[in-house]
Amino acid sequence: MKLPKEQVLDIFRETKALLEGHFRLTSGLHSPQYFQCARVLQYPKYLHLFCGEIAKHFEYADVELVISPAIGGVVVGTEVGRMLQVRTIFAERQDGKMELRRGFEIHPGERVLVVEDVVTTGGSVFEIVDLVKKADARLAGVGYIVDRSNGKISFDAKHFSVLQMDVVTHKPEECPLCKEGIPVVKPGSRGNS
Ligand code: ZN
Repeated sequence: MKLPKEQVLDIFRETKALLEGHFRLTSGLHSPQYFQCARVLQYPKYLHLFCGEIAKHFEYADVELVISPAIGGVVVGTEVGRMLQVRTIFAERQDGKMELRRGFEIHPGERVLVVEDVVTTGGSVFEIVDLVKKADARLAGVGYIVDRSNGKISFDAKHFSVLQMDVVTHKPEECPLCKEGIPVVKPGSRGNS
């Protein structure tokens, strides 16, 4: 049974992982929400709760290796891997490309679970799926805490997210919050960091 959406959202709000108001995002677009997953994962009980959902979902998928993209995915991957009691590694971006470094390896035939914190465009996950295929390993699935893809992403594997939370954005000139005269805030600036 999946955690109820409202319960997850309440935890995000309580830990300030989810802020509601009027924000100018890095992209320049305006949004009534700002989401920073790392903020909720600083609390062991919530890291445990959300990673437990992913681990439970893939409990019988014969996972032999967990891999996640650095940086955001690492904390989630480590906890899921610990719960499943399997070897856990991460890939990191080098010269714009996701790579295995530090002597990390994906072995041929291994059943691999890809784990991420937030999926928006899925770029990093797709790159890791390619690494799995290149290693002649098998994809057991893709698990992540938050799906922000607005239903646009599908991986060629079993996938699971703890929460689906669509991204709402507006061009500044079309922003209804601007029209209401609500001041726009840059996330992380004084007052909401
Ligand atoms: Zn606005």
